[in-house]
Amino acid sequence: MLPTAPLRDLARSVGFDLVGFARAEPIPPTFIMEWLEAGFAADMDWMGERVAERLDVDRLLPGARTVISFVNNYWRDDEVSVGSPIARYARGRDYHSTLRDRMKAFRKAVIRMSPGLGTYGSVDSGPLMEKVWAARAGLGYVGKNGCFITEPYGSWVLLATLILDAEVDDYGTGPAADRCGACRRCLMSCPTGALVGNGRVDARACLSYQTIENREQQVPEAFRLKFDNLIFGCDICQQVCPLNRRPVFAEHPRFAPRAVAELGTLELAGLTPTQYEELIPGTALARARYDVLRRNAVYALGVARQADSRYLLEKLCGDSSELVRTAAQWALCKLDP
Ligand code: SF4
Ligand code: SF4
Repeated sequence: MLPTAPLRDLARSVGFDLVGFARAEPIPPTFIMEWLEAGFAADMDWMGERVAERLDVDRLLPGARTVISFVNNYWRDDEVSVGSPIARYARGRDYHSTLRDRMKAFRKAVIRMSPGLGTYGSVDSGPLMEKVWAARAGLGYVGKNGCFITEPYGSWVLLATLILDAEVDDYGTGPAADRCGACRRCLMSCPTGALVGNGRVDARACLSYQTIENREQQVPEAFRLKFDNLIFGCDICQQVCPLNRRPVFAEHPRFAPRAVAELGTLELAGLTPTQYEELIPGTALARARYDVLRRNAVYALGVARQADSRYLLEKLCGDSSELVRTAAQWALCKLDP
């Protein structure tokens, strides 16, 4: 059995803000099955493909006993990125690598303490229900906006998860008390009605999905009309949340905005392949690809009816990407209603 006191110190020393421990017990299938059956996963087929592993971590690490949940606050309000159309979490270095590096350092040190220990780690990529584990570990709860909400940092947090095949001496007591109460601010503020109650998000209507995961086709018009200075991810349901009123500045330079977060929609729509290669690799924006990022920025120009974008939009009507061409034609029509 591993003592949690030195593990907590270790988690802090490698850079995590919060850490908690949960027993590796199976997760009841109701929530995820209902969400999948309702079609809320849109075309993210990978969400439904490894459900058995998502519900039982023993399938990921035979003999699993403990799930460690790590939290990092990422909120910053640097002047250079005020007004950026990119969601806050994606403005700095790719958080996957930041949290992975921290977890790697943690894992190495724990294995030194306990040679032969079996582990399985994930940062938003493995078939793990990270919010469920963070809640079981006692670090917070899932709010009506579907985000994981902590007491010290609100929902401006990123999660990492590590499974161990050993027990620890102190486990979390389950989700923190629900602090949403009668508030419905996020549900009322979501521009597309993607919050369908009980912390469930209909990805089909969510602008985070549409800006990042919808990479092959045009975004349905009803949703692209909501691309109001928003081209990668959406922070609206976090911005309006009263539990996020007192955010904490994330000091570590890895969370500092990169040069891409200083650009506006016009500059992002006009990115050249060379600028893309200079600015995007190493950030979470790489997931959206060159043409998708430009398509989104072009929609935002159309929504803003930005007169100084006419020259660029006309040029993009002849772009080699069909995705960008069609978006540019649509945006030009918005300029000339
Ligand atoms: Fe709605 Fe935006 Fe929140 Fe998605 S991220 S649920 S679109 S407010
Ligand atoms: Fe909960 Fe209100 Fe925050 Fe939504 S806005 S997550 S209902 S506290």
